[in-house]
Amino acid sequence: MIALPNDDNSCGWYAALAPAAPVKKLKGSQTADYAIIGAGFAGLAAARRLAELKPDARIILIDAQRVAEGASGRNSGFVIDLPHKFSLEHPDAAHKQKLLSLNRAAISQLQGLVERFNIDCQWSAVGKYQGAVGERGEAHLQHFEHLMKDLGEPYRWVEKEELKGVLGTDYYSRAIFTPGSYLMQPAALVRGMGENLPENVELLEQSPIRHLEKQDGKWVLKGDEGTIQTPKLLLGTSIFTKEFGYLKNRLLPVMTFASWTRPLSDLEMKHYTGQLNWGLTPADHAGTTLRMTADRRILIRNTYKHVPKYGANISDDIRRGIHDEHRKAFLARYPEFESVPFTHTWGGVYAISRNFTNFFGELENGVYASACDNGVGAAWGTISGTLLADLAVGADSQSLRDIQYVTGMPSLNPPEPFLGMGVKFRIALAKWQSRSEL
Ligand SMILES: Cc1cc2nc3c(=O)[nH]c(=O)nc-3n(C[C@H](O)[C@H](O)[C@H](O)COP(=O)(O)OP(=O)(O)OC[C@H]3O[C@@H](n4cnc5c(N)ncnc54)[C@H](O)[C@@H]3O)c2cc1C
Repeated sequence: MIALPNDDNSCGWYAALAPAAPVKKLKGSQTADYAIIGAGFAGLAAARRLAELKPDARIILIDAQRVAEGASGRNSGFVIDLPHKFSLEHPDAAHKQKLLSLNRAAISQLQGLVERFNIDCQWSAVGKYQGAVGERGEAHLQHFEHLMKDLGEPYRWVEKEELKGVLGTDYYSRAIFTPGSYLMQPAALVRGMGENLPENVELLEQSPIRHLEKQDGKWVLKGDEGTIQTPKLLLGTSIFTKEFGYLKNRLLPVMTFASWTRPLSDLEMKHYTGQLNWGLTPADHAGTTLRMTADRRILIRNTYKHVPKYGANISDDIRRGIHDEHRKAFLARYPEFESVPFTHTWGGVYAISRNFTNFFGELENGVYASACDNGVGAAWGTISGTLLADLAVGADSQSLRDIQYVTGMPSLNPPEPFLGMGVKFRIALAKWQSRSEL
């Protein structure tokens, strides 16, 4: 049995979009030269690149949900150039430089699409603040400064007063600003890319693939009302790759949550002393991510859960508790906005691995996957999906060699119940250690 995504329907980014165009679903017996499951950043990028490389091929991109309902449309909207914290600590300088240039290639690719198709998604080259609240966070920032110096990357310290002028709160003691990250409205970006796919890509939505098998040397994908037969299958299914029988004991399903306010009114803006359109991630990694959007909403993201059932076990009570924690974090920063309600609280699932290694490659004859982005998948999904298409058609490039250099095999997980106990303990410990930044 293939377990399907369990995403809630309360994502603020998605709710802010116009109603989606009529859906096209998988029906009847289809054949394709290439099929891609998963229309998030990875699957969308793979489909586009395949279409460029094979303009005469029939390419089907299929998703269980509408485009932008999955993690790619419900994240915090940072497109981050710098590698993940743990990758930044990698002893091999070439590894880090390659990650950086891959992420930057992804960013310029996304920027190109936003410009070419005029995608209205608040795409902004505004960099990112990494904010500390107290001594522990500041020590993390000092460590981060060393890593930036080692890499030769630009950064700037932002002291409390200046920071207050940007964020409109004096909650943070200091921050480091790095200029290379972008902000966007993720559901708008992802939908925009889905609406502007090349002509030889057919996008099928609300069409979960429930069974995968090999028949006469071809892969057969079975949905509720139809099948697809294909010699080459690309999986852009992130954590759900496990469900197709691959990397089964190597990926960890983690859920994190966000809430946002309605747009602040003109009157409320008079009490807001900060700027619009900035993003801050916590110095201490289990802390709170904070954004003020271009359209005046304040977004709070924190809390992690290990979700072997992809969120099916997140009860209304748990959701209420998360909402209350977000509220606490919001009011600690903006007590003057007590009367401004949250309009949406939502969660999303992504894949991490215990050794923070991303998988990229051929899983078996004719099946390719990019899985496990360790929570920074906007850039990583884009570049890994693109290069997965190169791999699937046998193209060669420096970027393909670079991604093969920096990826590997996620480490094996211990068996249950030790895995669940261990992850819960790690999440609780990280939350406690980062408590000042929640
Ligand atoms: C709240 C939150 C905040 C985050 N913030 C950031 C951020 O600011 N920046 C950042 O870079 N990353 C962030 N992330 C992580 C980021 O969203 C993910 O890393 C990224 O979306 C992964 O993209 P993907 O294309 O690999 O996978 P996904 O977006 O997960 O796409 C996988 C797709 O596969 C589909 N699927 C699964 N099973 C099936 C099936 N059986 N049949 C058909 N389709 C199937 C799903 O419906 C889904 O659409 C955040 C995540 C969350 C949840």
